[in-house]
Amino acid sequence: MSQADNPFLAVAAPWIAGLTPYVPGKPIPELERELGICDAVKLASNENPLGPGPRARAAIMALLDDLGRYPDGGGFDLRRALADFHHVSPTAITLGNGSNDVLDLVARTFLHPGVESAFSEYAFAVYPISTQAAGATARLAKAHDYGHDLDAMSNLVTDQTRVVWIANPNNPTGTWLSASPLKSFLGSLPKTCVVVVDEAYTEYVAEPDFPDTTHWIETFPNLIVTRTFAKAHGLAALRVGYGISDPRIADLLNRVRQPFNVNALAQAAAAAAITDREHVRASVALARAGMRQLTDAFARLELSYIPSVGNFVTVDCKRPAAPINEGLLHRGVIVRPLANYGLPNHLRISIGLEQENDRFIAALEDVLSI
Ligand SMILES: *Cc1c(COP(=O)(O)O)cnc(C)c1O
Repeated sequence: MSQADNPFLAVAAPWIAGLTPYVPGKPIPELERELGICDAVKLASNENPLGPGPRARAAIMALLDDLGRYPDGGGFDLRRALADFHHVSPTAITLGNGSNDVLDLVARTFLHPGVESAFSEYAFAVYPISTQAAGATARLAKAHDYGHDLDAMSNLVTDQTRVVWIANPNNPTGTWLSASPLKSFLGSLPKTCVVVVDEAYTEYVAEPDFPDTTHWIETFPNLIVTRTFAKAHGLAALRVGYGISDPRIADLLNRVRQPFNVNALAQAAAAAAITDREHVRASVALARAGMRQLTDAFARLELSYIPSVGNFVTVDCKRPAAPINEGLLHRGVIVRPLANYGLPNHLRISIGLEQENDRFIAALEDVLSI
């Protein structure tokens, strides 16, 4: 909608005009309505195809009689469970309506017109949105091999930089940073420049030198680590994630946070899910097998892809991906085009169940053969 069509733009905060909404994966019911089918497959939002584990399911069922009441606004039980799991104080934890909500709390706490945030090319799309929604300026570092180039990011940091955003592993590229360069980078930043290390896919990573930065908050008081229940824990629909930081930062984030931002079902399910190691193990094993299935198919089809440690993989079509995406949609398969990330030749595929991956591979072969 243009400026002329929308008179409210003139009275909105000046930086709102430049915002473009996040583009989510197409919902399954929408595609099924469009095609008149009932078996569409969605491999577009990096969800866990197994959904919640048995403990989370039981916790949700047990709560149905209490839904007339507001949730615990302080999230006492969930913060306790997370504190136990991570061996940190409950005062280090900030709960969010998804970890995106925590990212937005960081932006609203530390960003405003006149200051800057820094992140990498191809980094997660929420960083520019939250930065711009707060009226701050986004500074973009060139990527290296599709991954974060920490030297390039360092060069962007000035005394106006309030937040540096790092996704480890990154979505949509699946690239990752090992412990030692990340630690040096954190050590090189001004002490008051907040660094968010977004670990949405951490459960999937098996690399031995992949860091668990939740152990670093005492060394780096300016570090905020974010985690989510939307991916390996299979609770994307409930919207629950959290930040771990120095309690002095958590105190500020919790001032900005809305009192009931995490609903009661989400709090109970998350507290149960964090103890369910078996479900995470099974989910990760499924993703790993599916990754082999997809990358074997790409090799067979002579398509190159960005090696990924997440539960998704980004393939290089070596030509505009939009028509290929259209062909896949027409065959009932939803994946994620990445033109809005500046990757018009790439498609990101989330790993699904074996038969869902097969549907995608067959559809892709079909599309490429015509
Ligand atoms: C999926 C994802 C999140 C998690 O978002 P939620 O709001 O918790 O669903 C955060 N960061 C990255 C990089 C992601 O891909």
